[in-house]
Amino acid sequence: MTDPKPTHDIEAVFHQKGIPFTRQRRQIWEFFAGADRAATIAETADALRGDGVGQATVYRTVQLFNDLGLLARVQDGQGELCYIAPPIGHSHPLVCGVCRRVIRFDGDGDLTELEALLGAETGFSIYGHHLEVYGICPSCQQTRREGDDGE
Ligand SMILES: [Zn+2]
Ligand SMILES: [Zn+2]
Repeated sequence: MTDPKPTHDIEAVFHQKGIPFTRQRRQIWEFFAGADRAATIAETADALRGDGVGQATVYRTVQLFNDLGLLARVQDGQGELCYIAPPIGHSHPLVCGVCRRVIRFDGDGDLTELEALLGAETGFSIYGHHLEVYGICPSCQQTRREGDDGE
């Protein structure tokens, strides 16, 4: 299991699309690129408020990053929508549904058998997949056990 950091050359992506890469967009990107857990738009806005980035800007920018494939949307255990910056290459997020900590695992060849089976059963020519895995991380399990002891 690896934990590669996101390495998207975001400035190049923006340049290619002819979209200005503003200071605020950079600040929002750096927040996600440095985060080890998924964040909601509201949390992102809270974290960046001190830097003078408004909630509406955060909202629009997160949508833009998401549309450009630079951020991935996941859900926590309450079904709350959160965002993470995925690394380049074939990897999938493993998300803690309680604290939203994200571990990225290398998925090279992971679903080859399933894809072959599906292709054979349906006649589809399969070229890819989108996979998120959800669970409860060790420290949240520990917290739960301690909570149970107290009851
Ligand atoms: Zn957790
Ligand atoms: Zn995969």
